[in-house]
Amino acid sequence: MVRKFLYAFLLTLGFTGCGSRLPAEIPLLKPMSEDDEVRISREFRREAKKKLKLVHQLEVERYVDRIGRRLLSVMGPPSFDYRFFVVEDSQLNAFAVPGGSIYVHTGLIERVKSTDELAGVLGHELVHVKSRHMARISGPDPLSILALLGVFLSGGGAQAQAAGVLGQALSATRQLSYSRQLEQEADTLGVRYMAEAGYDPRAALGFLKIIDQERILNPVDLPPYLMTHPLTQERVTRVDAVVHSLRIGASRPEESDSIKKIQTLLRLERHDADAVIGEYERLLGQNPQNAEALYMLGLAHEYKSRWPEAQQFLERARTLKPKSPGIDRELGHLYTQIGEFRSAHEALDRALSADPKEPLNYLWLGELFEKESNFPEAVAAFLRAHNLSPLWPEPPQHLGVVYGKMNRLGDAHYYLARSHWLADEDELAIANLERALKIFGPTTARGQLIKDELEAIRARRK
Ligand SMILES: [Zn+2]
Repeated sequence: MVRKFLYAFLLTLGFTGCGSRLPAEIPLLKPMSEDDEVRISREFRREAKKKLKLVHQLEVERYVDRIGRRLLSVMGPPSFDYRFFVVEDSQLNAFAVPGGSIYVHTGLIERVKSTDELAGVLGHELVHVKSRHMARISGPDPLSILALLGVFLSGGGAQAQAAGVLGQALSATRQLSYSRQLEQEADTLGVRYMAEAGYDPRAALGFLKIIDQERILNPVDLPPYLMTHPLTQERVTRVDAVVHSLRIGASRPEESDSIKKIQTLLRLERHDADAVIGEYERLLGQNPQNAEALYMLGLAHEYKSRWPEAQQFLERARTLKPKSPGIDRELGHLYTQIGEFRSAHEALDRALSADPKEPLNYLWLGELFEKESNFPEAVAAFLRAHNLSPLWPEPPQHLGVVYGKMNRLGDAHYYLARSHWLADEDELAIANLERALKIFGPTTARGQLIKDELEAIRARRK
């Protein structure tokens, strides 16, 4: 059985014959080390980029990352570089790959009622990774886990259904499921972490209700999340008991109210703008002071590049809700697009003073300075974003472009390399680092650092 999956994974990765790029250090039939897990995560991410449709909406990416980091901040020293991804897929699902790669489907984000509910799902998945549950399942060795994950990946999309891979993918999903005991641990610790991080742990129960509803509505075609996380009365009772044992604090994270915005952005990505506009115009008709409706209408018009309407709705939303860093960030970005640089600075300054640790505020600020041809300030802003979120490929990519405009080509290639490296595009990272090395010269201090980085990337590829 395992051999068949292994074969399938090798096919999906493009491994052929004996001259394969099979990671030689992963020993067969030995328990996984943390290094194995990091490698599994990387291989999976590279493959997932080809096989899954990932959402590249900066607000959405940042939103999920923010929740994940907030949870991680109470989970002790991190043993992995955690990455969060959103998959464009209507199925209710979320999963974690050993080594720290967490994937959430848009179908799940669109069904939750609050950020706290999503935090509950992420908390649960993070416990699986952090406590290295996959390594604790007796049986699978790193290679067969990679193989199973490969088959699991190949099960997405209509192509897979036509090719009959789906059955195998479902079987792989089942084999990758955790034992009841590990699920219990993920539930119990996940709920505790979400409470410690300032989320409402009662939302974990809310999410169980959502999947129960899903099961009742569609008993034949169960969502993948229910296959790996069967909803039993035992599970509900246990989560309930943990929630009741906790003292629920009053601290509310900033992003608690942003779920509506994220859900709207996902609908806009699906070209649902007219439906969004219709829906919120109706709500606005019932109550012209509905700040949320004004905000969502602003987003929808912005998505359709109708700047005057977008500006008008967002400004009205802001008048009603003056202390919303989300609206200010959106306005800052919009003013930048339409060349109203002064207003853009004011809006982004407000967003930054309310939320000085949000890298997206700095990213938009950098973009604004770049449009004003103030490149040194643009660099400073992009560097702030990069330092606040060092694993996010976006800020170094912008740094590469601005340094290029400043004709500092060594720095340009250096940061482009970093962006590619973070996106697991090793070949492009190496090519850019080699260009940077040529420009700085191999004997300079900078050249020496680049040589070290090149060596590290090459070692990682072996
Ligand atoms: Zn689980």
